Amino acid sequence: MSTGGDGFESERRALVERLRERGYAEREATADAMRSVPRHAFVPRGNRGSAYADRPLPIGSNQTISAPHMVALMADLLALSPGDEVLEIGTGCGYHAAVTAEIVGPEHVSSVEYHADLAADARERLNDLGYGGVSVRAGDGHEGWPEDAPYDAAYLTCAAAEFPHAVVEQVRPEGRILAPLDRGGRGQTLVLARKRVDGTLDTETHGGVRFVPMREG
Ligand code: SAH
Repeated sequence: MSTGGDGFESERRALVERLRERGYAEREATADAMRSVPRHAFVPRGNRGSAYADRPLPIGSNQTISAPHMVALMADLLALSPGDEVLEIGTGCGYHAAVTAEIVGPEHVSSVEYHADLAADARERLNDLGYGGVSVRAGDGHEGWPEDAPYDAAYLTCAAAEFPHAVVEQVRPEGRILAPLDRGGRGQTLVLARKRVDGTLDTETHGGVRFVPMREG
């Protein structure tokens, strides 16, 4: 899956170094994944020159690809290991899914995207780039993806009022869930939860973030 010789290796490596100086991509697996995934191939042609700047970029359908530091932070917080089964809600362009796939293996990633056109584009792009093992489905992330459950970890790349019940249900006991959650009109907080054996959640907050809102049904 390593995409050598695309002309952007040094920019990508420099980006990861800058992120690490700021305390992101601390885990070696996260840094390696971000050095491997060609972010420029996930953004519209006209934005390729900015693909390795640490900022979000538009990807069409009024959506954005998250800034690299946010993808790095989320991968670090989920502490993913090879072989972990992971559910992603909000495929977007597929970049974050590709980073996750580098860590756990493409066949262990299931991703749900609300917009059917984005889902189709992401599926094709992931396939072209060697991440064809990632499963992408168009649908409402509130329902998760029951057929591929249970998951070791799940994360949302869109902001919800609370962790979707179906997603919590589909994560195994002791599994992790990470999502930007709305603070009732006062912005969003990135919240990491560990599912206890009794099904309740042990949560910790990780600061203010800004994601696109999760669409209701
Ligand atoms: N991870 C993405 C960033 C996606 S932005 C990337 O790397 O590009 C958030 C995405 O969540 C958008 O594509 C949006 O369409 C999607 N989304 C919003 N509401 C959703 C819902 N209810 N179910 C599934 N996806 C949703």
